[in-house]
Amino acid sequence: MFEYAPAPESRSIVDIAPSYGLFIDGSFVPASSSGGVFKTVNPASEEVLAEIASAGADDVDLAVAAARRAFGPWSALPGAERAKYLFRIARIIQERSRELAVLESLDNGKPIRESRDVDLPLVAAHFFYYAGWADKLAYAGFGPDPRPLGVAAQVIPWNFPMLMLAWKIAPALAAGNTVVLKPAETTPLSALFFADICRQADLPPGVVNIITGAGETGRALVEHPDVNKVAFTGSTEVGRQIARSIAGTRKRLTLELGGKAANIVFDDAPIDQAVEGIVNGIFFNQGHVCCAGSRLLVQESAYDEVLTALKRRMSTLRVGDPLDKNTDIGAINSAEQLSRIRELSEIGAAEGAERWSPQCDLPSQGFWFAPTIFTGVTQAHRIAREEIFGPVLSVLTFRTPDEAIEKANNTPYGLSAGVWTEKGSLILAMADKLRAGVVWANTFNKFDPTSPFGGYKESGYGREGGRHGLEAYLA
Ligand code: NAD
Repeated sequence: MFEYAPAPESRSIVDIAPSYGLFIDGSFVPASSSGGVFKTVNPASEEVLAEIASAGADDVDLAVAAARRAFGPWSALPGAERAKYLFRIARIIQERSRELAVLESLDNGKPIRESRDVDLPLVAAHFFYYAGWADKLAYAGFGPDPRPLGVAAQVIPWNFPMLMLAWKIAPALAAGNTVVLKPAETTPLSALFFADICRQADLPPGVVNIITGAGETGRALVEHPDVNKVAFTGSTEVGRQIARSIAGTRKRLTLELGGKAANIVFDDAPIDQAVEGIVNGIFFNQGHVCCAGSRLLVQESAYDEVLTALKRRMSTLRVGDPLDKNTDIGAINSAEQLSRIRELSEIGAAEGAERWSPQCDLPSQGFWFAPTIFTGVTQAHRIAREEIFGPVLSVLTFRTPDEAIEKANNTPYGLSAGVWTEKGSLILAMADKLRAGVVWANTFNKFDPTSPFGGYKESGYGREGGRHGLEAYLA
């Protein structure tokens, strides 16, 4: 059995840190001589949680070969049989969701309230949803003979480790592909726990393989010649590299990359509701969200009212122990990410924007950043243009809908946007003109397995979720 991190009461786990292998062909195995080991730490305490195998090129070969062997029999199964496995996995996720939520919060730093009430229910929902598709592919307009692509190489980031895994693995398996997935190096634990769930569900060996390691492992995986499909979620920079490296091959590619979403508040919006949406938009998951509402565009006539209410609400946010169910904002995922957030915030202040944070005592150990807003931001400021990927909001103003659209679209990204107004016609007009894959109306950061998600421009291409998510895995 896969052992997972100890119960949350145990605060000092350094001495009993377990070590985990790679999950290849249905078994946990150590890395070969081409690999190594690395440690994953709890970002809220900096304690080592576990020692993890780092897959080298030989291990990537083994994992891809296992997925290739499994592909024939798996893709030949009737869809209804594949569905049974996916339903079983979904149910086991539900049964073990408390353990998974704790593990996710320990490894990632996100508040347990979010991992327990948002991430894990969505993870199970994705498996249930795609299980339901597995026996309907032939009748859903995918063409007369929809076929799986083969072996999918899937590389995911650290901000939603289990949810990104679900977005990748559930549609791939439903469509009859086999997978080799690499989680991010700072959050490998829940993916390894998921490997154990695959064993518990009696999933045939090789259908799901989980290999851990850093960027080099990911690179060897996506460049492997026997991979048919690459699905990547992460930074725009790495996404670009991957697109270049596989150009000229027959591999299919989907990219889910960065964002710099505008959350647009008109003066007729219900202000209290909008403020909740602004807070959720940027402080959910410490702002480690590709579609975070990191630019607030507020209509000038409502500026004072919105800012006053926003600051009041921010003063009630509790920053601290991710395992405390009253915590609103947990730990920043890594020292590296913390220094990126600090650097961009310093730049924001140096460029003349005014910085404000509520009074909050941050723990002395671990990686923390207080919720922060910058006012007086112009479009020329770097904090208005670059993804900070942390709890930092840049506030800009506008007078007319056209000005809001011009500012919202003035970004190399195009992943999401939010619009807050009582006027339905204005919502429709804005949604039409905003160059964003998702436009939320009077809400923000709402996800559902039935809805496609993905970006324009430098936010990537292809869609995950819904029927579109299956298309990405079918020939
Ligand atoms: P990252 O690109 O550094 O890493 C993502 C994953 O890619 C990790 O598993 C990493 O090990 C791997 N990797 C690194 N270099 C690689 C290479 N050359 N070849 C193959 N794999 C490689 O990104 P990150 O810092 O982990 O994540 C944050 C970024 O992800 C943000 O920019 C965020 O916007 C984006 N993101 C996007 C979405 C989305 O759906 N659009 C979702 C979550 C995160």
